[in-house]
Amino acid sequence: MNQHARIYVAGHRGLVGSAICRKLRSLGHDNISTRSRGEVDLRDQAAVNQLFSELKPDYVFMAAAKVGGILANDKYPAEFLGENLQIQTNIIEAAHRVDTKKFLFLGSSCIYPKFAEQPIREDSLLTGALEPTNEWYAIAKIAGIKMCQAYRKQFGFNAISAMPTNLYGPGDNFDLHSSHVLPALLRKFHTAKVEEQSEVVVWGSGKPRREFLHADDLADALCFLMDHYDSPEIINVGVGSDVTIAQLAELIGSVVGYSGSIVFDQTKPDGTPRKLLDVSKLTQLGWKPKISLEAGIRSTYQWYLETVKS
Ligand code: GDP
Repeated sequence: MNQHARIYVAGHRGLVGSAICRKLRSLGHDNISTRSRGEVDLRDQAAVNQLFSELKPDYVFMAAAKVGGILANDKYPAEFLGENLQIQTNIIEAAHRVDTKKFLFLGSSCIYPKFAEQPIREDSLLTGALEPTNEWYAIAKIAGIKMCQAYRKQFGFNAISAMPTNLYGPGDNFDLHSSHVLPALLRKFHTAKVEEQSEVVVWGSGKPRREFLHADDLADALCFLMDHYDSPEIINVGVGSDVTIAQLAELIGSVVGYSGSIVFDQTKPDGTPRKLLDVSKLTQLGWKPKISLEAGIRSTYQWYLETVKS
């Protein structure tokens, strides 16, 4: 991507989209377009076509999606499936119409089978049943991957698809009902410390394992892939190691400085037992993450404190 290329970042207010914009600006890109939800409803095909005929972007980062944690996914299946299908179908079709040079679609590690062999290789896609708590979101994302492959096959549309592992960072959703585990626990531990509560409740057994990637590392990887990856095959983006939810809770407790106890609420679902990505394909291309889990949690906690204060 040259520095003056026209770039559209869909979903620029979200965790991933905002990190992509920060990264692009730091690389000197000066022609980045974004639109808020109020300006363009991405579920509306005519509005999306209109937007693309105005912008005619050379590069598109497709980071707009309806996202949420384990309970939100389970509670709002119609939105997680339907809205994601609408948004991505509209954007892929519109980008193809205006001859976008390169399109990057963002998937998720939840597209892989619940009991995929670990670490999960890209070729395990569609080899087994999905985890039921997030299958709605996963099915939409799998359809997006297939759309990209179909448009490449039929029209030569240059679309690539990256599958990030569980993400976190500044700008994350800290709402306890709809967030993912890492921001939820940061908030719970912070509140427990401030209010001097004797315990923090962590959902599930604490035994599931998750891999966490900082959004700034993801944005760095996505810019790298825009320049260095050109294939219909999906590619994993992760750190290559994981922790149990219990270990994550301990680490967050120590970063926040909470000295009470941790209890596990086993009435809440564990979700998939493990989803560690095999990142050898990306590593071989020459990319690796820079932000350790502890450093990432520290800086995200700082961001949270400043945001709560303001
Ligand atoms: P998942 O990776 O799709 O399962 O999504 P989450 O990030 O929501 O959950 C990951 C794991 O963390 C699951 O086993 C949850 O039960 C567990 N967990 C523990 N405490 C919490 C919490 O407060 N919020 C969320 N969302 N998950 C939690």
